[in-house]
Amino acid sequence: MEANPTRRFDPLAAVRTQAAGEFDLLLAGTVFQDIIFTGLPHAPEPGTEIWSEGMGSCPGGVANQAIAAARLGLRTGLAAAFGDDGYGDYNWKVLDRQEHVDLSLSRRVPGWHSPVTVSLSVDHDRSMVTHGHPAPVTSSELIGKPPRALAAVADLGHELEPWALAAHKEGVKLFGDVGWDPTGEWAHARLANLQYFHAFMPNQREAMAFTGKNDPWAALYSLADRVPVAVVTLGAQGAVAVDSETGEEEWVPSLPVAAYDPTGAGDCFGAAFIVGSLAGWPLSDRLRFANLCAALAVQEVGGSLAAPGWGDIADWWK
Ligand code: ATP
Repeated sequence: MEANPTRRFDPLAAVRTQAAGEFDLLLAGTVFQDIIFTGLPHAPEPGTEIWSEGMGSCPGGVANQAIAAARLGLRTGLAAAFGDDGYGDYNWKVLDRQEHVDLSLSRRVPGWHSPVTVSLSVDHDRSMVTHGHPAPVTSSELIGKPPRALAAVADLGHELEPWALAAHKEGVKLFGDVGWDPTGEWAHARLANLQYFHAFMPNQREAMAFTGKNDPWAALYSLADRVPVAVVTLGAQGAVAVDSETGEEEWVPSLPVAAYDPTGAGDCFGAAFIVGSLAGWPLSDRLRFANLCAALAVQEVGGSLAAPGWGDIADWWK
């Protein structure tokens, strides 16, 4: 999908005149190369070859949310490491020239190969194979550096914790998701640091693992004790959320669509939820808008490049 440049969507115009951040949203992390196979007849078995109906290749990792946010009209900055290889060349070009994400805080890492994720979709299920390691941007590369932002997406409890806390003190709204933590070693630190987040938006599996609860609502309430805005995404069921600042509590079902490629749905949902949060919308509208954007994205193959722009959304968002 692509934004239609003839239609304007600027939900943050009023907010920007009050707070002059250079970015609306600053994201930090690692860019992966995503290779996506969809419509597989079944999961691959040892010693067999199967053919997929569809295939896509696109920037992944933190690039998912950066592209979704930029397409929704946010002035988006990305502080990320890019591999010193063809994938790094391609991803840099797509983000910089095609998607207009500001990369002035990003860098190429000499001699480092881009991490790659292969995603295999069978019906609504997805398996992933990942190779390589993140090479995160560190706090010292970000603290005290202009440009500033109204909001940032941070993975608290990791290398970026000092930066996230500094940003929080400066009044930047922090939005978080569950990032790279294969061994769970950062989970404890993340829970302790949730107090610095404005919102935390894991999917239901992550939310239950994170809180030790065995159903999504219990996980949501546990998160709501620690963070002003707690959101748990439920895949095709939509999302549930509690906003303790306004007293709102909502479950908004998703749109009934034929989902083809769920890669990046959570990131697209998150970017849209951030748009609504910065624009000051009620919780039900934030969730409706996020569900709509993610539902449009899952109907196309393409991971990050399936995120909708305003031209795709305008007829649906009244
Ligand atoms: P991903 O890891 O693929 O980025 P996720 O696992 O973090 O996604 P999900 O809870 O699966 O997150 O999905 C995020 C949002 O995407 C949902 O809250 C919903 O709005 C939308 N979504 C996901 N799957 C579907 C579907 N089958 N139909 C409609 N909307 C969907």
